[in-house]
Amino acid sequence: MAVQQFEEAADRLNLSEDMREILRKPKRELTVNFPVRLDDGRIKTFTGYRVQHNVNRGPAKGGIRYSPDVTLDEVKALAMWMTWKCAVVGIPYGGAKGGVICDPKTMSPGELERLTRRYATEISIIIGPHSDIPAPDVNTNPQVMAWIMDTYSMHEGFSIPAVVTGKPLSIGGSEGRNDATAMGVLFVTRQAARRIGLPLRGARVSIQGFGNAGSIAARLFHHEGCKIVAVSDTRGGIYNEAGLDPAAVLRHKQERGSVVGFPAAQQISPQEVLEVPCDILIPAATEGVITEANAGRIQAQIIAEAANGPTTPQADRILGRRGVVVIPDILANAGGVTVSYFEWVQDLQSFFWGVEEITQKLEIIMNRAFAAVAEKAEQYHCDLRLAANMLAISRVAEATQIRGIYP
Ligand code: GLU
Repeated sequence: MAVQQFEEAADRLNLSEDMREILRKPKRELTVNFPVRLDDGRIKTFTGYRVQHNVNRGPAKGGIRYSPDVTLDEVKALAMWMTWKCAVVGIPYGGAKGGVICDPKTMSPGELERLTRRYATEISIIIGPHSDIPAPDVNTNPQVMAWIMDTYSMHEGFSIPAVVTGKPLSIGGSEGRNDATAMGVLFVTRQAARRIGLPLRGARVSIQGFGNAGSIAARLFHHEGCKIVAVSDTRGGIYNEAGLDPAAVLRHKQERGSVVGFPAAQQISPQEVLEVPCDILIPAATEGVITEANAGRIQAQIIAEAANGPTTPQADRILGRRGVVVIPDILANAGGVTVSYFEWVQDLQSFFWGVEEITQKLEIIMNRAFAAVAEKAEQYHCDLRLAANMLAISRVAEATQIRGIYP
């Protein structure tokens, strides 16, 4: 998907074959196999990856995910998307991504800590505050980032908070980082909704995924006056056309481990959450969930991609024909990495900003990026994804061109 989207944008940009040759492939792909002692005394070898796609606009940047489904190909695609994401919002980073094949839901906190510290040690040969800065992604959180920061710092002999973002506040994390991805989704959705004349007050919102992005989006969109009609997690979904109370759903999930079984709601599947009657659909889980098989049944007017890569190119074409506005992942969910950038800057200068300043700066960057993408889309009579990719790729190509080829 990532390469297909790249080629399509490269065609429209008339990008030279030489430049495509450089941008099509990641710069570095590190695979690590490492042992971890489990609580029962056994040793298990885990496989992890860290891929750096491009660093021409700045150090590599991108999250780390823990999942049984992680593959090198997936991490490569996600790293490429990070390059475009940082370029589209204009922050001085290249793209990277990491992942470990594991099932964190079946591991104890001790096992997760040992896995994290050993993985951090294995990838410490390429990460660093000036080379490659990890962050949270699917199934990782501020605690995992704290362990990475501590492990890296122990090896260096002093604290290096800027090696990773998404840390807890007490060790150099930033105000607003937790809410940042969802906040960015809200800012760009406001812009898209205004353009099609959809008032957010009273708009029906359906959200697939109830992790960092999805659960906070539910809270923020509810606060904005939207009606959250459906949410889901990996175990299932819930639907109530009269609207769900996100705070109550979150409490239920914290107590029972899932949104499933939430009272006064119809139980549906995570797939059905995509197809319920709604105005705004927020896929906030994982890749490839909106496909040619279900794109025709989606009822939303706006899809705001909080997840990375939720829509296949075939589905994009169907949605485009049906007039659904898709705010592409590299734009819609860029609020996370943008506040990561603020966190990194604050760490490097050891001077911290208040939450108002963070939110204000984030809104300026998201609105500016949305306007630039929308303008490009008008100019080229294309959808927002192609426009965002064209804008991002041209910026990375320009940096690559001007730096030249070494030696
Ligand atoms: N994992 C997030 C993303 O996919 C955040 C990355 C970061 O903050 O570096 O954009």
